[in-house]
Amino acid sequence: MAEAVTDQAPVVIIGSGLAGYTLAREIRKRDASQPLMMITADDGASYSKPMLSTGFTKGKTADELVQADAGAMAEQLNMEIRTHTRVTGIDPGAHNVLIGDERLHYRQLVLAWGADVIRLPDAVSGSLAVSSINDLEDYRRFRQRLGGHRRVILLGAGLIGCEYANDLRNGGYDVTVVAPSEQVMPGLLPEVAASAVQAALEAEGVTFHLGVAAEAVREEGEAVQVHLNDGAMLQGDVVVSAVGLRPRTRLAADASLAVNQGILTDRLMATSVPDVYALGDCAEVEGHVLMYVMPLMASARALAATLTGEPTPVQWGAMPVVVKTPCCPVAVVPPELTEDGVWEAEREGNNVRAVYRSGTGALLGFALTGDRVIEKQALAREVPPVLTPSVAR
Ligand SMILES: Cc1cc2nc3c(=O)[nH]c(=O)nc-3n(C[C@H](O)[C@H](O)[C@H](O)COP(=O)(O)OP(=O)(O)OC[C@H]3O[C@@H](n4cnc5c(N)ncnc54)[C@H](O)[C@@H]3O)c2cc1C
Repeated sequence: MAEAVTDQAPVVIIGSGLAGYTLAREIRKRDASQPLMMITADDGASYSKPMLSTGFTKGKTADELVQADAGAMAEQLNMEIRTHTRVTGIDPGAHNVLIGDERLHYRQLVLAWGADVIRLPDAVSGSLAVSSINDLEDYRRFRQRLGGHRRVILLGAGLIGCEYANDLRNGGYDVTVVAPSEQVMPGLLPEVAASAVQAALEAEGVTFHLGVAAEAVREEGEAVQVHLNDGAMLQGDVVVSAVGLRPRTRLAADASLAVNQGILTDRLMATSVPDVYALGDCAEVEGHVLMYVMPLMASARALAATLTGEPTPVQWGAMPVVVKTPCCPVAVVPPELTEDGVWEAEREGNNVRAVYRSGTGALLGFALTGDRVIEKQALAREVPPVLTPSVAR
């Protein structure tokens, strides 16, 4: 039988990433004393994840990226934080979170447990020489592994792969990028903007092998060999896999929450079961999976209002994605490609202004590189919002 939900039961937030902590802060701005609890699989350190791909450029080690530890955050936010505690299930009928055999009662539950890195087949990702970097602990291990080595092979030429390529070059490493796509940041940038970023990274000394995939990684003493599917073999010291992220949905699906690519929510961030919400990288909000900071901040503000008694649907305007490749900065609002839409581009060197217009001339998205990124705000104002209270793009 379902237990009665008392007012004393806390709002429980699972995850201490930007989503979890932003929500807790926003709740505290509205209500200083509502019982709050955070459960996190990691050490609960507060840090800005985007800084992971600028560590060398900004001269910050993993420890230096920590803004506050869990103890300080618990005090600041007047909430209990259970660190190094992995949630193993949810029982929404009983309003319980499961941690092994332990059951913990919640009044409302917020899933802010992020996304998993996509693993390549075992012949590649199974090698101990391959690192993925999706949190501070991964980053700490990666920096240790780098040690005095010089040669880094990056698998993946997406946003994060390009950011790491630029950052590692700034740190003085030899960087080789391998990806099956024919351009960098496929799906995010039109070819003209992608080629500007690639050219700028090449001018910095990054080597690209595009249109090929890594088939196997073998450790050879201290060195590592990456075998490509065109028969070539690359020698390096450290391999980083940056081939993408996938929202964590398994525990939600096991508890019969509706999931698709992410955990499905409406604009109140409410999942398909009562009193359970999803936020940040794990959430799919009315069909949109946007694994970026701006959407999660807007969602956290709206959800804090909802959880403190003022139901508030999230609104997402056009939110430019900024790519931290200092050799060629990028700002992009990726359009939903329509049948009659076309890219119109101007390019001068590595400075690109590409706009995507519908058949009627409406601006649906854009990609700016180099000097042209200063036009970001002006163009963003013209692009239709992603989510308004009543209309979805
Ligand atoms: C290298 C890099 C650079 C980026 N740069 C940018 C950028 O420049 N701009 C931008 O907008 N976005 C950027 N992003 C994306 C952005 O950082 C993420 O969208 C955001 O940090 C996600 O926050 P989150 O709280 O949803 O997830 P996470 O930060 O992943 O937090 C998930 C939390 O859940 C916990 N957890 C997971 N499973 C469990 C469990 N079963 N039980 C308990 N706890 C659990 C984890 O321990 C963690 O505390 C970048 C991402 C990366 C990886």
